[in-house]
Amino acid sequence: MADNANDSGLAENAYEVQVELSDMVDTDNPLAAANDFKALNLSEGIYQGLLAMNFKKPSKVQEKALPLLLADPPRNLIAQSQSGTGKTAAFVIAVLSRVDYSKPQQPQALILAPTRELARQIQGVVQSIGQFIPELIVEAAVPGAIDRAVGVKGSVVVGTPGTVMESIKRRQFDTRELRILVIDEADNMLDMAGLGDQANKVKNMLPRNIQILLFSATFPEKVGQYARKFAPNAHSMMLQRDNLTVKGISQMFMDCPNDNEKYDILVKLYSLMTIGSSVIFVSTRNSASIIEQRMVGDGHQVSALHGAFDPADRDRLLEDFRAGRSKVLITTNVMARGIDVSSVSMVINYDIPMKGPGESEPDPETYLHRIGRTGRFGRVGVSISFVSDKRSFNALAAIANEYNIDLVQLTPDDWDRTERKIQEVIKSTRAEPGYVPEEVKDQPQDEAEGAEKTVATE
Ligand code: ADP
Ligand code: MG
Repeated sequence: MADNANDSGLAENAYEVQVELSDMVDTDNPLAAANDFKALNLSEGIYQGLLAMNFKKPSKVQEKALPLLLADPPRNLIAQSQSGTGKTAAFVIAVLSRVDYSKPQQPQALILAPTRELARQIQGVVQSIGQFIPELIVEAAVPGAIDRAVGVKGSVVVGTPGTVMESIKRRQFDTRELRILVIDEADNMLDMAGLGDQANKVKNMLPRNIQILLFSATFPEKVGQYARKFAPNAHSMMLQRDNLTVKGISQMFMDCPNDNEKYDILVKLYSLMTIGSSVIFVSTRNSASIIEQRMVGDGHQVSALHGAFDPADRDRLLEDFRAGRSKVLITTNVMARGIDVSSVSMVINYDIPMKGPGESEPDPETYLHRIGRTGRFGRVGVSISFVSDKRSFNALAAIANEYNIDLVQLTPDDWDRTERKIQEVIKSTRAEPGYVPEEVKDQPQDEAEGAEKTVATE
């Protein structure tokens, strides 16, 4: 595998991609690794867009996926790569390469994402990379965005499945010339317990021979099988299970004596949260709002964002957070996936992510996506998961076990040490290649420090 030592800031040893060519004898699609974007023979407009964004070299997923994506005839692809490694640009470059710009209002590419925030963010990336393509029109198909009198009139459409489905049914979205379908967060989007039904219905309304690209940081086994049916005969790029975490994220857990004290501990962390920006994940909309009100009442500047807000408020709240006007966002799983705000240096799992009937099982995928809101593209960050009883402790231990990760323990009774440990990470700005924060690397330090323990990973 090509050594990807680069100056793009992405930790070079971040992961090994296991690439399977679905057709072993396909010599027309060699895995020619492109060491810089120039080698990919992109159109001049796209190349200029990447330069303007200061993307100097492709990340590994871009380097590996793009030669496959740009090959003719088009072939389906299922690609897995960790959070913050540039999956969006990989599929956006593919999309922009496939569009016929002589038909600027004719939908030709459809990108689906699970939330309006993510769809809007992807729309922004398409516009940025495509900024030197004057004929490019990008439309968002998210609640409240489509002008019903006009319909969907752009060559690239980015949307959420419900709104896309409705606009097709209302004949406001002409799908006949769509040639490429991208599903971001594909494991989530194809999950039959969630959006899978809608995604499937959308696919059934599209041309049969459309090129299908599925991207995610996680592909749990049972969704993986379904994905291969959804995108038949696909090339696939999959990660090894214990390579799923990003090295720049220092994963910690806070041992809270009981549920009631979680709030006080959260408040004590406030000054650390505002060194950069922070996202606090809770399990319900209601508790997001309650915690927000309490913290504001206690004099802290925080905001809540969740699905009960109306679309305009959601857009405004995220915009404030992106711009740094608000620095602490309390939210639910609605923000767990895809959201890219590079200033986020801390993620707090106030509640451990759970799934299944009655939230009875730990949710390792959601854990990975949540902590992946920090440590974007080689940056460093801290995640702190709160445990307060046997149930939450066991759930976190199961998640740690799943990915073979060691979590650093923090305790509220030794606050000086807790602060020091967090500051060590977030005050260093970037992950060096192979960067591991000193104190984390040297564990176990039980004897030396007294309190350093990890969640059992056996
Ligand atoms: P993922 O979808 O894999 O979680 P994103 O596509 O959101 O990650 O990208 C994470 C960040 O990395 C974004 O801020 C993006 O602008 C940046 N990025 C992507 N590719 C490059 C590149 N080749 N060089 C520099 N920065 C990049
Ligand atoms: Mg993404």
